[in-house]
Amino acid sequence: MTVGRFAPTPSGRMHLGNVWSALLAWLSVRSSGGELVLRIENLDPLRCPDEYAILIRDDLLWLGLDWDREQPPQQERTAAYDEIFHMLESRGLLYPCYCSRAGLHAASAPHAADGRPIYAGTCRSLTPEQRAAQKKLPAWRLQVPDREYSFTDGVQGPFSENLARDWGDFSIRRPDGIYAYQLAVVADDAAGGITEVVRGRDLLASTPCQLYLYELLNAAPPAFYHVPLLSAPDGRRLSKRDLDRDMGALRARYRPEEVLGALGALAGLIPKGESASAKELAALFSWDQVPKEDLVFSGL
Ligand code: GLU
Repeated sequence: MTVGRFAPTPSGRMHLGNVWSALLAWLSVRSSGGELVLRIENLDPLRCPDEYAILIRDDLLWLGLDWDREQPPQQERTAAYDEIFHMLESRGLLYPCYCSRAGLHAASAPHAADGRPIYAGTCRSLTPEQRAAQKKLPAWRLQVPDREYSFTDGVQGPFSENLARDWGDFSIRRPDGIYAYQLAVVADDAAGGITEVVRGRDLLASTPCQLYLYELLNAAPPAFYHVPLLSAPDGRRLSKRDLDRDMGALRARYRPEEVLGALGALAGLIPKGESASAKELAALFSWDQVPKEDLVFSGL
């Protein structure tokens, strides 16, 4: 059976771009008779106040996007992440990194095509004495192999990265002790028995890092569907800063069927301008219709 999930980060009210990913995750599972899990990804307590998690649940239900069970929010999962951290440490795969944020992002540092810095391995070979002499708390990095990690995405097609070339050793715990997204998302998807991950195309490049973690955990990775991102007509990606497209503004002006109808049209399921409920869209859903390229959202 397919087990899919919504994994929202409650750092703001959901906006249309989040609803788009949630709708496609829901449609994929509901059209195949699977199970849907909700998981609140609140790793960073300062960025994720509880009221947004409450609003996310309420907004999803207002849209008719229900779920079958809820996984514990990430803030309650520290013990499970610690266990993985210690397993990786005991295998000699982790090391502390004292590099500053500014240094990592410096123009002289290597960067991937999407702008993220590639870690050059600066702290990998520090001696115990050099480590002991540091005056600040370290991030912890996972050593990556010089190897291609490949998979076939359900929307974007074949995708492959060499972790040493395209990422370098990536961080799995921040200096303040908060675990990184890459570690937490794999720990949670594996623990939740998730077989299908539907999320924005901005996370496509992270997937090979996650495949490596699945391998280290000896767990089977899910199928991945990286959906196109929505942008405003001026080319900006829709984000939590677009308050006119957040669920508060949308609920004040539209019915759920109007919001879902607009997204259903972008997904190629119904003609533009029609309204539809989530259930009606599920009856029409097929991944073959969903476009691969990013989409311009011009309004309801
Ligand atoms: N929590 C992430 C977000 O809200 C999604 C992570 C994932 O789906 O893997 O963008």
